Amino acid sequence: MSRFFSKKYKDLEPYTPGEQPKERKFIKLNTNESPYAPSKVAIEFAKEALERLQLYPDPECTALTAELSSLYGVEPDQILWTNGSDDILNFAFMAFCDESHPAAFPEISYGFYQVFAQANGVPFKKIPLKEDLSVCAEDYYDLGHTIFIANPNAPTGKALSPAEIEKILRRNPDSVVVIDEAYVDFGAESCVPLVAKYENLLVTQTFSKSRSMAGARLGFCIGCQALISDLNTLKYSTNPYNINSVTMAAGIGTLKDDAYIKDNCRRIAETRDYTTMELRALGFETTDSVANFMFISHPKISGAELYARLRELGILVRYFSAPKISRFVRVTVGSREEMTSFLEAVKLILEE
Ligand code: PMP
Repeated sequence: MSRFFSKKYKDLEPYTPGEQPKERKFIKLNTNESPYAPSKVAIEFAKEALERLQLYPDPECTALTAELSSLYGVEPDQILWTNGSDDILNFAFMAFCDESHPAAFPEISYGFYQVFAQANGVPFKKIPLKEDLSVCAEDYYDLGHTIFIANPNAPTGKALSPAEIEKILRRNPDSVVVIDEAYVDFGAESCVPLVAKYENLLVTQTFSKSRSMAGARLGFCIGCQALISDLNTLKYSTNPYNINSVTMAAGIGTLKDDAYIKDNCRRIAETRDYTTMELRALGFETTDSVANFMFISHPKISGAELYARLRELGILVRYFSAPKISRFVRVTVGSREEMTSFLEAVKLILEE
């Protein structure tokens, strides 16, 4: 740390992104990317956008917004775009949390929530999960906090129903409730339809997972016009050109090719269910994940050991050292071939 670094950041512990290996070729099941290529329409649109790189992108993302607005059945002024959904989450911590309105989120969830709270000097409360690692909706009633819930939650993959989330919204009418739907397309039910009913709901989604665009960085949120307007104030006070024109064009192409995306999601869900069945037959405990990853543990081996042995065999998964989940590893659902290799490696490790 230099002597110039602001004191307000002295205790900040930055987020550690999943490894992006360069030294050798791994089967990469550690960062919940899609195993499938981006849409061909997206690639075509992105190539065309390259011809006009001398111009700034449209800060309002008008064409992208129009496309999403008709696909999701929401008004254009209920949508905001950011550079990955991480940026929206950061804006939400900036916009809707402070000393008098702290943040609350599940104790085991997306690690970035705590980092955003700390980076923005926001007090926060972590709410434990139930014994079965699910979020207990009742624990979020009448909190007086801005609530952040990943649904499905990460790294467990377990989801609440929109009816349960609706109860949280009703019991916190004076607080914003942010539902992070990064993984919703693989089998959970979206809360977007609730936006019409609840002015305190903000739903975030990303193009990084189901839409095969992690490298392009594109996220969005849907909420009532007043919430979107607050977030726009922050966007226009930091980086109005936060979506570059190539990403914007690829995003439009992806939305036009929605049938391709839906088909990929269906294939990933099928591969997840097949792999889960095989893992259970090998004695693994797995959460009932509806996301594009599985959260698994085995009585014969610790999470740290399983992670390390798989790595030696050329397969990367994600391990979290937090004591309550140190038995587990999180495994992204890859292609059917990748999961066959993963299962073979797991069998080999268990036989050792
Ligand atoms: N929410 C959750 C729960 C995530 O796991 C991730 C991905 N790490 C994100 C949000 C952010 O994704 P992105 O910034 O790529 O949209």
